Amino acid sequence: MPDYGKDYENLNISIPRPLAGDLLHVAQQSGHSVSQLTEKALVQYMKDERGINSVYLSAPVNAMLKGFYEENTTLGDLRKHGDFGLGTFNNLDGEMVMLDGVIYQLHADGKTYPVDDHVQTPFACVTFYSPSVVEEIEENLDFNAFNAILNRLLPSDNMLYAIRVDGLFKQVKVWSVARQPNYQPLVEDEQNRPVFEYENINGVLAGFYTPKFIRALNFPGFHLHFLTDSREYGGHLHECQTERVQIGIQFIHRLKLDLPMTLDYLTANLPR
Ligand SMILES: [Zn+2]
Repeated sequence: MPDYGKDYENLNISIPRPLAGDLLHVAQQSGHSVSQLTEKALVQYMKDERGINSVYLSAPVNAMLKGFYEENTTLGDLRKHGDFGLGTFNNLDGEMVMLDGVIYQLHADGKTYPVDDHVQTPFACVTFYSPSVVEEIEENLDFNAFNAILNRLLPSDNMLYAIRVDGLFKQVKVWSVARQPNYQPLVEDEQNRPVFEYENINGVLAGFYTPKFIRALNFPGFHLHFLTDSREYGGHLHECQTERVQIGIQFIHRLKLDLPMTLDYLTANLPR
């Protein structure tokens, strides 16, 4: 950050009269001071201006679903676009979870392995996580009730959301993927996937909600990956029951998409 020296002390802002009127009105209604509101609005604006409050996709998911498992986005590239998210690795070599800037590779044995920044991904979805709402849920919820609460926390079906759920889970069922040869589309058959179940476990769910009309670019609906608090085990969430959790949701109204510059991608005949 450049040194602005004395500029800070001389910073005077003039606000057009109608806007100042609105500001005073909102301050009166909300019980917040004018300075608090101004600061809040500026933080939000800066976040948007720098493109931080956006979902970043390293590639459209439809390429991966067609069996293109090798793209040239490195985890180092991915890190520039977020500190939180999910995805997979080239050749579908496990499930990816990114939490607080650390990327975890969950292999087909359900365990995490260290992964370096040169490893590549055919598909990943990340953001800089900063929740807009946080809700404490003390009840024991089955998967349907859990999904109902998530749905209730989304103000609209037509926006993007990052979702982080921390706490104690009564049960969690996840799956992972085994390394796949390129050009071999995954069969939508659960039987072939390694499945793992955990009970009374502390952990984190990390992922996104994507509107259904964006399905060519990202998995529609809720897509969550699980990681234990010990950071040793996890996978793609199939179902869960919560005991005591904190749900954080970030409202996001911008999507950034990279199109892979690989020959495979450029010459692919993707679904229309
Ligand atoms: Zn997944």
